[in-house]
Amino acid sequence: MTDTQMDVDQFRAEARAWITSNLERRPAGADAEARGVRTDEEIVAARALQRRLFDAGFAGITYPAEYGGRGLTAAHERAFREESADFVMPDFGAVGGVTVGPIGRSLLEHGSPEFLQWHIPRILSGETIWCQFYSEPEAGSDLAGIRTRATRDGDQWLLNGSKIWSTGAFHANWAMCLARTDWDAPKHRGLTWFAVPTNAPGLTIRPITQINGTAEFCEEFLDEVVVTDADIIGEVNHGWSVTQTMLVYERGAGESGVSLMEPRELAPDLVELARRGGRTDDPAIRQAIARAHVADYAQFHLGARIAARLRSASTPDPAVAAYSKLARGVYTPLRARAAIEIGGSDALTWPEGDDAGQRPAIDYLNGRIVSIAAGSNEMQRNGIGERVLGLPREPSFDSSIPFNEVLRKSRGWNGRVG
Ligand SMILES: Cc1cc2nc3c(=O)[nH]c(=O)nc-3n(C[C@H](O)[C@H](O)[C@H](O)COP(=O)(O)OP(=O)(O)OC[C@H]3O[C@@H](n4cnc5c(N)ncnc54)[C@H](O)[C@@H]3O)c2cc1C
Repeated sequence: MTDTQMDVDQFRAEARAWITSNLERRPAGADAEARGVRTDEEIVAARALQRRLFDAGFAGITYPAEYGGRGLTAAHERAFREESADFVMPDFGAVGGVTVGPIGRSLLEHGSPEFLQWHIPRILSGETIWCQFYSEPEAGSDLAGIRTRATRDGDQWLLNGSKIWSTGAFHANWAMCLARTDWDAPKHRGLTWFAVPTNAPGLTIRPITQINGTAEFCEEFLDEVVVTDADIIGEVNHGWSVTQTMLVYERGAGESGVSLMEPRELAPDLVELARRGGRTDDPAIRQAIARAHVADYAQFHLGARIAARLRSASTPDPAVAAYSKLARGVYTPLRARAAIEIGGSDALTWPEGDDAGQRPAIDYLNGRIVSIAAGSNEMQRNGIGERVLGLPREPSFDSSIPFNEVLRKSRGWNGRVG
């Protein structure tokens, strides 16, 4: 029997046997880390553990076998996640999810076979971590307005410009970088993605210190950074289709759809908070917990359904992914707020070193992340309105004129179409 035909139960049994004899159990009550960023030592440990998974055939379960994956289905992936839920797994923080999620998937869809043969096994074995260079100080929601340029120079390209908000770039070995290659084409049509090694001469990566003292993001300055045709992902000037793929995976297709675990019990974190505060008999608190459980459940099934639909389509539909992203962008801050209400003052203060105790406050502050990252709630609503509901498009003057005229003309635009 080949791997592709392997029954999910048989795979589950194989996974369980390997996991129980090779991985360490997580200490009881240990929750996923609230911090999005890991230390250098934690990254070294994660790479070593990832290598063991790769060697045992449990890395890249849904990735093609020819590039070092297992070539199995999302159901096999889900079985593995369920079996490994109580064990210590490689933990790269947010940048790990980005590497095997939106980046890995986009590379698989748009990279050449030679590119994939070199890069994908290195990703799956933990040898290389990737980050995303797409946002710029002047281009976030309006991503097609990026100004980082790639200029042909003989048989190579020179990248110049700046990027911002790149999650975990200080741990990354490679970046997927969006640059403008044709300034005479309309804004969506002159874009190209390049793979850039993060140690390339001319590339400066600076962590951005946040209000809580940590630094999860970086800003980058690209000064005559050299890349070659072999580093191009997709086709020259057709980078927008790669962007669509990346954002679709970031917004709800692929791994993220299966990574959410089906809620097995009544919102355990909220119940624990209510217990700590002796408020489990308070009817208002009980209702808040029940509402959270219903919403957890609905969100899991919505996410799984959308992910399955996106995976089954020959081309994933960005409008469908927008629903999943919007659901998380709306619900995550609401749930975080419910925790604060249920926990009361206990949720706002904690003894030093009490990781579980600080979780509600951190989640509350971080709840906005998912309503902004990879496209804000407003942009998801715009997409659904225009592409699904057929509402009139937002007024714009710049989608069909050459990009080099856009900046000049934007100064005199009066907000009307045409
Ligand atoms: C946790 C996190 C991780 C991130 N990681 C990365 C990364 O790894 N790599 C990377 O390149 N980027 C990353 N980003 C950047 C992210 O993609 C951008 O923040 C996002 O696209 C929004 O862009 P902006 O911040 O420039 O906001 P803006 O585009 O300036 O938007 C500001 C506000 O205006 C609203 N708005 C803008 N345009 C419209 C419109 N047309 N209609 C209605 N409302 C509108 C927005 O909804 C928002 O509320 C990350 C961001 C976060 C929060």
